[in-house]
Amino acid sequence: MDSETPLPALDWPVFEPGWVWLCGAGPGDPGLLTLHALNALRQADVVVYDALVDQAILDWAPGAEHLYAGKRGGKPSALQRDISLRLVELARAGKRVLRLKGGDPFVFGRGGEEGQTLVQHGVPIRIVPGISAGIGGLAYAGIPVTHRDVNQSVTFVTGHDQSGEAPSSLDWAAISRGSQVIVIYMGIKHIARIAGALLDAGRPAGEPVAVVTEATTPGQKVLETTLGGLEADLAASGLEPPAIICVGRSVLMRQVLDWQAMATGAPARDLDPLKRGRPAESA
Ligand code: SAH
Repeated sequence: MDSETPLPALDWPVFEPGWVWLCGAGPGDPGLLTLHALNALRQADVVVYDALVDQAILDWAPGAEHLYAGKRGGKPSALQRDISLRLVELARAGKRVLRLKGGDPFVFGRGGEEGQTLVQHGVPIRIVPGISAGIGGLAYAGIPVTHRDVNQSVTFVTGHDQSGEAPSSLDWAAISRGSQVIVIYMGIKHIARIAGALLDAGRPAGEPVAVVTEATTPGQKVLETTLGGLEADLAASGLEPPAIICVGRSVLMRQVLDWQAMATGAPARDLDPLKRGRPAESA
């Protein structure tokens, strides 16, 4: 899309100088950006972006200054506090500041902290949600995050806490009992401990698991395995972060909903992977 292509008719919000808009950029595929985020890119003076934000998205703000605030190529990440205060400074300098974060800014994205700091400093904000990797990334792999025959709830967890350790505050036994489907962000590093905790809590070793890396990008890869096989299969696969890990029988639906494979001509692997029987044909 040309950066001049007009947006569809709507009373689009005007980006006022001195404001910070905290926007989600979606999981990767630029087409998953919201129109509000695109409207923001068209008006911003500065775009402060994280790792995992696609270059094509930044190209939609050709007139803006682009400031990188994430972790990439082994460079140490900017301190969260420094990022928040930088946003305050830019806003106070009268810029229209677009803070662009991967996925949704309020899902394991520290958007709440940044927003809080801005408000504490008297900077006006607007929040633009985005498609989170734990929902949209799984959809690109053909995995419905809820499916009536499988789950009435889903739990999103992070695989590491602020210290970088496996989160000790999580009650894995309660999560195992309470949620048929568990979606894990940032889970690769501590996968052995997480899989072990779920098995200890009574989840079956044969339970389906999918690991989706670089979801929604041209580099997307999907590993299908089981809880018991997860650690070894993941190591053998060589897959690397960023990854979304989905534990639960909804992973089986990929056998009929892997739309990307089907788009290349592959047939569905199983038309009824949950074996609930297909609706009887009407007479
Ligand atoms: N706010 C983001 C999550 C940020 S935490 C969101 O809502 O999606 C960063 C983690 O998100 C990564 O470690 C990974 O677990 C997940 N993630 C983000 N983008 C991803 C992608 N394209 N593919 C797989 N996982 C992704």
